[in-house]
Amino acid sequence: MTYPYLHHTEKGELYTENFSIAELRCRCNTCNRRVAHKIKPEALQKHQELRKALGRRYTPSSAFRCHLHPYEIAKDKPGEHNRTAMDIPVKGGLQRAKVVQEALKLGATGIGVARDYVHVDFRPGPLVMWVY
Ligand SMILES: [Zn+2]
Ligand SMILES: [Zn+2]
Repeated sequence: MTYPYLHHTEKGELYTENFSIAELRCRCNTCNRRVAHKIKPEALQKHQELRKALGRRYTPSSAFRCHLHPYEIAKDKPGEHNRTAMDIPVKGGLQRAKVVQEALKLGATGIGVARDYVHVDFRPGPLVMWVY
């Protein structure tokens, strides 16, 4: 499988045209964007496709999270932010609906809807949705 939208650094860390290394890395106090992220290539490819489909600029509210991230540390096993998830900021109902619509078209299998962002991930199915 090839990933036309993915680029990588000399050390193999992935980034895309619209998502920089800094935007993709974990922001917890331990990593503080200094540690390489481990987002799966197939998921990052999809997130870049989603970015193109949405046609607007955004910095993910949250992308990769290491297992020490405060939101992850209490979990028995790493969540989707350790593999495939990105939180996409939204303003208002039209943007929110558009993210859900385009994410579903791209085969997203985890969608969480919040007031100011939509969580999108590509876990092994079936499709699951939730609200915050
Ligand atoms: Zn971290
Ligand atoms: Zn999320």
